[in-house]
Amino acid sequence: MSTDPQRALITGITGQDGAYLAEFLLARGYEVHGMVRRASTENFERIAHLCDRLQLHQADLLDQLSIVNLINEVRPAEVYNLAAQSFVPTSWSQPLLTGEYTALGVTRVLEAIRLVDRSIRFFQASSSEMFGHVRQEPQNEQTPFWPRSPYGVAKVYGHWITVNYRESYGIFACSGIMFNHESPRRGKEFLSRKVTDAAARIKLGLTREVKLGNMAARRDWGFAGDYVRAMWLMLQQDAPDDYVIATGRQHSVEELVELAFGRAGLDWRKHVVVDPALFRPAEVNTLRGDARKAEQKLCWRPEVSFEELVRMMVDADLERVRKEIEAP
Ligand code: GDP
Repeated sequence: MSTDPQRALITGITGQDGAYLAEFLLARGYEVHGMVRRASTENFERIAHLCDRLQLHQADLLDQLSIVNLINEVRPAEVYNLAAQSFVPTSWSQPLLTGEYTALGVTRVLEAIRLVDRSIRFFQASSSEMFGHVRQEPQNEQTPFWPRSPYGVAKVYGHWITVNYRESYGIFACSGIMFNHESPRRGKEFLSRKVTDAAARIKLGLTREVKLGNMAARRDWGFAGDYVRAMWLMLQQDAPDDYVIATGRQHSVEELVELAFGRAGLDWRKHVVVDPALFRPAEVNTLRGDARKAEQKLCWRPEVSFEELVRMMVDADLERVRKEIEAP
């Protein structure tokens, strides 16, 4: 006798984490549905290789009815809310839009679950940016928040509304406080990918320099493929809870740059120009997560080290840029 596959719905399925999570769930036999925004030019690059195995639906985090209808139609067992305005600098130029997607968008998904079926399990992608001006080193689930950007402020709202719908309505809602996580699928505006893409382009002669901002900032960088496993694990527990997901190791922007350029056989000092325009109005100087709770309760551990991550990203960008040169 065969059982029906589990159904999952992912918002933000076209993003880095959406693509890894979709792969992960498909490999576990899930029927995977993705929510996508209508756009005049579609960006399905990261999920192109999965498209015939996914079911995509148009809806928007700004439109309550579209989310209610979608959840009513799909009737997922699990909803993963990965959609957001996720780039910190944009949150200063578009603070209200960031609040609509990154903060209120969470409530719209939770309201849809409350209306349609309260037994649906919900994962909210929260962020280490909530710790901002850090109150404690390293940061765990008890560390107070002090966000330093409109993005961080919006994520704090998303975190607490998730906790609140759990406490108010008994919804199985989990908040994963995800520290920075990267991969070859990371958008090129984020530091890691901007650097590995630049190293590849400089190595292959397409450009000579890259402009960067604050080289002294320190982050806890992990591999996105490891982090989506933690999201799924949270929804498989007996009770909903919140978890910090991090490697516990910290590196500076300069260390990442040195490692990436070194992998490409380059001396970063000859190619990196520090541009004050890229400094942020308020910076998060340091982040390092304490993921012991996830280790103990979810048996989750990151498998890819920082060094392996940077190597993987540089190698992928070198290969991609080489192909672009051969067949533009
Ligand atoms: P975030 O931690 O979510 O903001 O992730 P990012 O990858 O955008 O930034 C990580 C850190 O790198 C921040 O402290 C930035 O200030 C720093 N950084 C330095 N230069 C750059 C740059 O050119 N682009 C970006 N995105 N970040 C930079």
